[in-house]
Formats: sequence, C-alpha cells, structure tokens
Amino acid sequence: MKINIVIPCYNEQEVLAKTIDVLGKLSERIKQETGADTQLLLVDDGSKDCTWLMIKEAAEAHPFVSGIKLSHNRGHQNALWAGMEASIDHCDAMVSIDADLQDDENVIVDMVRQLQEGKDIVYGVRKERKTDTFFKRFTAQAFYKIMQMADKEVIYNHADFRLMSNRALKALMQYPERNLFLRAIVRELGFNEGYVYYDRKAREAGESKYPLKKMLAFSIDGITSFSVAPLKFITFIGLVMTFIAIAMILYALVKYIQGEVIQGWTSLLVSLWFIGGIITTGVGITGLYIGKIYTEVKRRPRYFVEEKI
Ligand code: UDP
Ligand code: MG
Repeated sequence: MKINIVIPCYNEQEVLAKTIDVLGKLSERIKQETGADTQLLLVDDGSKDCTWLMIKEAAEAHPFVSGIKLSHNRGHQNALWAGMEASIDHCDAMVSIDADLQDDENVIVDMVRQLQEGKDIVYGVRKERKTDTFFKRFTAQAFYKIMQMADKEVIYNHADFRLMSNRALKALMQYPERNLFLRAIVRELGFNEGYVYYDRKAREAGESKYPLKKMLAFSIDGITSFSVAPLKFITFIGLVMTFIAIAMILYALVKYIQGEVIQGWTSLLVSLWFIGGIITTGVGITGLYIGKIYTEVKRRPRYFVEEKI
C-alpha cells in the first residue's frame, strides 16, 4: 500500500527542514505499524524565499521526497489540488497536511489504519486550540460557527488535514469549480468516513501565511462558494421589510385622514439610512455570487507546474 503525504509550502524555509525530518521519521513508523510505504510530495506554491531550493536538495538526498513547483502563488487550496492531482496515479491514498506541523502528524498512523479497515476519507479534527492566540481562536471558531449555519454538513474544527483514498480522490477530481473550498466539497463525496482527533500545536517556526485580511477573504470566499445561505438570508430580510412597509403605509394613510400630519424628520432619516444599508448589502452579496459565476465561466487553469523533481 502506498501513501502520499501532500504538503503545500509557501515561504516556509524556516520550518521545512524540520518538517521533512519529522515526516521522514513518521514514515518509518507508518511502515512498521501498518506496512504502508510513504512518500512526501512537497508543493511549492510560488514561494519567494529558498523553499524550492530546499525541496530540491531534500529530494536529491532522500528517496522518499519529491516536489513540484507552481509557477506562481495560487493559494493553499490550489496548491493542495496540484499535489492531489500529481499523486493520483502513484498512490492508494493521500494525506494533506500543512508545512508548519500545527496538526499532529502522529495521527496519520491512525488514519492509515482506518484506511486499511475500509474507510475512504478520514478527517483530522482539532480538539483544542490552546496554543493559538486568543484572536486566532476566536476568529476561527466564529468562522466554523457561521459555516455550520450556512451548511450543516461542514465538520466543526476540521481544516485541511485529512486522508483520502484513491477512489475518493478520483471523485474529487471530477469537480470542475475554480472557487475551491475543499473541506466543503470533500464532505459531499460521501463514501466511508472516519475521524481522528488531536490537539493543535503551535507553529514550529516561521509565521502564519494567513494574516487577518487573507483569513477574512478566505472565509467569505469559502461561504459563498459552497452555500447560497447569504442570498436566502438577504431575501428574507427584504421580505420582512416589505411587510413592515405595508404596515407603515396603512399607518401613514390613517394619520393623514385624521389630519395629524407630523413632522417626522428623525424617523424618515433613520429609515432612509437603514433601508439604504440593507439594499446595498443585498446588492453586494448578489455581486459576490456574480463574481463567482464570472470566474467559473472563464474556466481558467488552476495552476501551472514549473518544475518537478
Ligand atoms: N500556504 C500555501 N499558499 C498560500 C498560503 C499558505 O501553500 O498562499 C500553505 C502554508 O505554507 C502552510 C499552509 O498553507 O503549509 C497553511 O498556512 P498557515 O500555517 O500559514 O495558516 P494558519 O495555520 O496560520 O491558518
Ligand atoms: Mg498553520
């Protein structure tokens, strides 16, 4: 049995040597405990530092390391996709893990065991986030809560640390969308699902490649690419407002007939701003989806491979 571990790397020179070392030791353990052969596939997502150089050196030094270099920074999800597409003909299952080793690599052994018991997709789920800063923990948890409101199928506290069997991978590759939000698409595949639980660790070295701006963009992108819940929500608000408006018209007419025409400057001003705000938000959300349609119909390629080793 062959397992490919896919590791997207973007400017990870500080942590890469350690990652390769740790995962190399882990593959020996996987061999001992489950009999499976492990190969590391490092995907350089257009890094600007020495990441690719280090991947090349590692691939020359160790037979279990290989790498691909994308021609430009395409983002975590696309880099992962590139790695999965490259592994599909070479492995029985693929595990995706971040380069910073924040996810406990030791549970991969358990993932492989579950694969041997017939599971197709094994999700890594974080138990706690003690080591994250308060801010990261808070924003991440709010994000998972909102995602669950938009789509109940999403697994709470599961990011992109998972094992997928070859047939699950092949099924995933049939999804043509360009706006990738893997953790939600994978959930749609079905097959036999399993879970492993672990504590999230601190980053080994280097800093997060997801600053607040990117994190926000990723959340909005994620939610709008797999759920139309925001559109439904804004339609609902629009309906409620229409009903309020009907009541208001009746009220105004009655007052007019009674001859009690009041000045009402404040209420007018307030409702003007309120309605304006809601309309603009509604148009904005609709616009987001139209933007998505725009990128989808262009069918642009997800990435280009510049070099392989
Ligand atoms: N990453 C990537 N392309 C990007 C940004 C990040 O391939 O444009 C990789 C990065 O190298 C890491 C993983 O995605 O392996 C997760 O990034 P990070 O650890 O910075 O995110 P966080 O854990 O802080 O959410
Ligand atoms: Mg990280």
